[in-house]
Amino acid sequence: MRLVDLHTHSNRSDGTLSPAQVAHAAAERKVELFALADHDTVDGCEAARKAAEGLKLPFVNAVEVSTNEDDHLHILAYGINPADKTFVSFLDQMRARRVERIVSIVRGLKESGVGLDENDVAHEAAGVRGRAHVADALVTRGFATTRQDAFRKFLVPGKPGYRPPVGASAAQALSAIRAAGGIPVLAHPGVVRDKWNFPEWVSAGLGGVEAYYPSHSVEITRELLAIASRYGLVATAGSDYHGPKTGISKTLGLRIPDEDYEILRRRLLN
Ligand SMILES: [Zn+2]
Ligand SMILES: [Zn+2]
Repeated sequence: MRLVDLHTHSNRSDGTLSPAQVAHAAAERKVELFALADHDTVDGCEAARKAAEGLKLPFVNAVEVSTNEDDHLHILAYGINPADKTFVSFLDQMRARRVERIVSIVRGLKESGVGLDENDVAHEAAGVRGRAHVADALVTRGFATTRQDAFRKFLVPGKPGYRPPVGASAAQALSAIRAAGGIPVLAHPGVVRDKWNFPEWVSAGLGGVEAYYPSHSVEITRELLAIASRYGLVATAGSDYHGPKTGISKTLGLRIPDEDYEILRRRLLN
């Protein structure tokens, strides 16, 4: 078995460590294949790559693209060229939509008597702003005790600060990633099981599934590995590490069979 982590976040999106610190944390855990996959930005890739190179840690450029189809329907992109102008402007657009969503969320909260403003949210974010930073601002202002508590009380469907997701469609994300030379991989498939549409996604360019993920049962992983072999998809592994004080995925690295590791190295490192 080999330890890999192809799904981590830094403070360029909603993680708490810098890209270099995430690389150090991965090296400390003795991860053997590593990617930084921040939400809708490749800003941290260069710093993470530099740190990883110094640590002799095999590194892959990545980004996690949100879609407008579900709050959790996300597409990971591996091996994209971070300087690809068309892709960079696609990500710019995604981030502009995120900002609009946050404006609307803050308005919704205000209308329900939760006095938060956009500066409170901006204050929490070092990089791409997201709902997690609204949650952090709610904690800072004493409206909730943790990020999770803030989501539960204010930011999930039915609560005053919920707004539907605003990213691209899955098909648009898949084709934008392919056009930038990347391999699109469905993130945490077990979390969006009711949305599975592999025939359509594969014909739109899907190249992989994140079969190994902390919340996946053995059965889900097995099912995803079968789907991967049926459609010729690569099976990836990611912890969704966000760093300390985020309450989610605090442990970096997942153990996967040697043969899956070899395939990943071949497909993702070039
Ligand atoms: Zn995700
Ligand atoms: Zn993630």
